[in-house]
Amino acid sequence: MTETADVVIIGSGIVGSSVAYHLAQAGCTNVLVLEREAHQGKGSTGKSMGGVRAQFSTPVNIQMSKYSIEFFSQFDEVVGHPADYRAHGYLFCATNEKHLAYLEANRERQQALGVTNVEWVSPEDVVKMVPQLRVDDILGGTFCPTDGFVDPHSVMMGFMLNARQSGVRLWLDTCVTGIRIEAKAGTNSVNANQSSDNAANAISGVQTTRGFISTRVVVNAAGAWAAEVAGMAGAELPVEPLRRQLVPTEPFDQLPKRFPMVIDMSTGFHFRREGKGILLAWNDPNETPGFKTDFDESFIEKILTHAASRVPVLAEAGVNPRRAWAGLYEMTPDHHCVIGPSPNVSGLYFVNGFSGHGVMHSPASGRITADLILQGHSELIDAKQLSVERFKQGKLLEETAVL
Ligand SMILES: Cc1cc2nc3c(=O)[nH]c(=O)nc-3n(C[C@H](O)[C@H](O)[C@H](O)COP(=O)(O)OP(=O)(O)OC[C@H]3O[C@@H](n4cnc5c(N)ncnc54)[C@H](O)[C@@H]3O)c2cc1C
Repeated sequence: MTETADVVIIGSGIVGSSVAYHLAQAGCTNVLVLEREAHQGKGSTGKSMGGVRAQFSTPVNIQMSKYSIEFFSQFDEVVGHPADYRAHGYLFCATNEKHLAYLEANRERQQALGVTNVEWVSPEDVVKMVPQLRVDDILGGTFCPTDGFVDPHSVMMGFMLNARQSGVRLWLDTCVTGIRIEAKAGTNSVNANQSSDNAANAISGVQTTRGFISTRVVVNAAGAWAAEVAGMAGAELPVEPLRRQLVPTEPFDQLPKRFPMVIDMSTGFHFRREGKGILLAWNDPNETPGFKTDFDESFIEKILTHAASRVPVLAEAGVNPRRAWAGLYEMTPDHHCVIGPSPNVSGLYFVNGFSGHGVMHSPASGRITADLILQGHSELIDAKQLSVERFKQGKLLEETAVL
């Protein structure tokens, strides 16, 4: 007998898991999540730095963060699993007037959207938070105390375990190899009012390494591999992989036990505490797109140069290259995610291209996707602005606060 599901989700990372959870919460439980790996979290979710912040520049990112951070603060009780949300804050440090003007404009937008706790800080305030920071060129900055960190793996597991308790099925070791589409006959069984109903083609099922699954609705939650999955349905999706490398130090006690994520706006170098050591991050502008997941050891010297320049004591930190790692950002041309139905294939939904923010925006993106599938709209945000059609229509949403 052919397996059937009301909704098939491709990919069981933090985003696919959140979609499964939100569908189940809304009463849609005949959901099948397909994951090609033997375990969850082998994609970008397991490589993430776990940062969550509301300090963004565009309204849609601020709104998605606001919802998501409130969600994380109640995650343990609501979902029944620890998110390990730590509200240690994000501290942006400005070194020129342009940075200050940028932070000021962002702060006004954040306040207008209800994020009212972003504070201005002076160089003296910065020193109080991290005494080892070199502040001779820092003019000031902003600090949001409810920004911070979560444990991405635990959040993903929480979403999925909860969804499975409601009846959602998860098939591991199951690779989707094709999406079957047919000339559209009627409307799909989950929602008859969705905006993709002008499409000429409709989903009829997915081919997998465990056989065919009949379904009218497919959610593409395939992370950095999303363009390939969209292509299986003949749909275009401008998402490309970009390597991102992180370097943990050996145990290091010359910085405080607790301090915020610190962002040096002059270089983009940022760092936070991770257990007994420090986790160092920097966006290498010379990185080129591609499925590169090997760690490049020459990156260590580059990042340590930025680290020691801003925090001189970090020159004394030990680094073991074998403990450093690389993963993939899933980049879109305007650094915003794509959420919503495909305009060409009825029943195909995208929740992709988070451009480095997929962990922090997982609660909002799961909720919006479930809303769109079940109701055709979301009250959380005007989801049309995140539609894939924006790229063809030239309605790009440029986010400049990308770390
Ligand atoms: C080094 C690094 C640091 C980061 N730091 C942060 C941060 O601080 N904060 C933040 O919010 N975000 C951060 N991110 C980004 C974040 O990790 C991602 O945006 C997020 O994990 C995306 O989740 P996802 O579920 O969409 O993708 P993934 O976790 O990649 O999941 C996609 C899944 O789809 C599966 N899949 C793909 N194709 C198929 C197929 N054909 N059949 C079946 N299964 C398939 C894959 O196996 C994978 O498990 C970071 C990323 C990296 C690499």
